[in-house]
Amino acid sequence: MKSFAVGVDLGGTNLRVAAYSHGSEFLETIQLPTRRESGREAILIELCGAIERLLARYSGQFQLEGVGIATPGPMELPEGRLLILPNLPDWNNFQLKNELEARLGTPILVENDANVAALAECKYGQGREYGVESLCMLTLGTGVGSGIILQGRVWHGMNGMAGEAGHIVVYPGGAQCGCGSLGCLEQYASATAVVRMAHERARQGDAPGITHLALKKPKFSSHDLFLLAKAGDVQALEVFAAVGRALGVSLASLVNTLNLELYVVGGGLASAWELFEPEMMNHLRQCSSIFRITDPDLGDGQRMAAAKTFIAPAKLGSDAGLLGACLLPFTVSVSSSLQAQNIA
Ligand SMILES: [Zn+2]
Repeated sequence: MKSFAVGVDLGGTNLRVAAYSHGSEFLETIQLPTRRESGREAILIELCGAIERLLARYSGQFQLEGVGIATPGPMELPEGRLLILPNLPDWNNFQLKNELEARLGTPILVENDANVAALAECKYGQGREYGVESLCMLTLGTGVGSGIILQGRVWHGMNGMAGEAGHIVVYPGGAQCGCGSLGCLEQYASATAVVRMAHERARQGDAPGITHLALKKPKFSSHDLFLLAKAGDVQALEVFAAVGRALGVSLASLVNTLNLELYVVGGGLASAWELFEPEMMNHLRQCSSIFRITDPDLGDGQRMAAAKTFIAPAKLGSDAGLLGACLLPFTVSVSSSLQAQNIA
């Protein structure tokens, strides 16, 4: 009998639940608005109801592999205790895994949404394209998430907090970050950061395009700035160049530390790839000797053996989190298997 899994992408705006079997598209997806105003208990009831509906519908034809949940924000493993969820404040410190296991009577895997997006990208996106089982992915959204996949499994670190590359400091003493530090990547390469940097640039003066945009639409988005830059506005292009510099410096640290074959940049802001890619690659080359000797653009005579480090935009779109949540039960994390070995 083929196996199936149920995955959940618990976002601040939407709650998406899917049934998935290997070798097929989603068997079925359910999308509900995340009714934040109704509070945690109401969301939990809806969430459990949707999971139970899919379990009941597909358990006859398929064997259940498990249930995976993707949540925003960091969490503590193995307990599956959520730490700080910026868009769902009454979920802070909530023991999501235990609570859902008690309500549903089945084992639950919980994982950070950037980690599961990286898992999906590794299995079905650029990881498959490049034929690799390990990668590091940066997700540029409201914040900057990241995930590290080693040999097909999420790398959790000691207690689930590995892969927080969005908080690599790129400018010591720089912009205040929500994590409490100053100058994190997230403050220079997220959609929120792009809007902030554009307002800062307009305040400096001599940025007529951005000033006009801000007057016309005071709450303009990163996409509005993207359109302005695409139309050739010099100061808007400078903002995306700043995104590229921050990404290049951060990728250099990751390349120097991890020495993986593939680094993927995804999330909504990654659609501006063409605008930030040149500065990103310039700074990566400047700051990473490992990249310089494994640069795919070098001739074979200059490059170290056949080793190449690839930097690529993500292939999977907004379904990556939901697909990754479904894939979770089919994988066992490297750290849990190490823990199991230690116990054995
Ligand atoms: Zn930070």
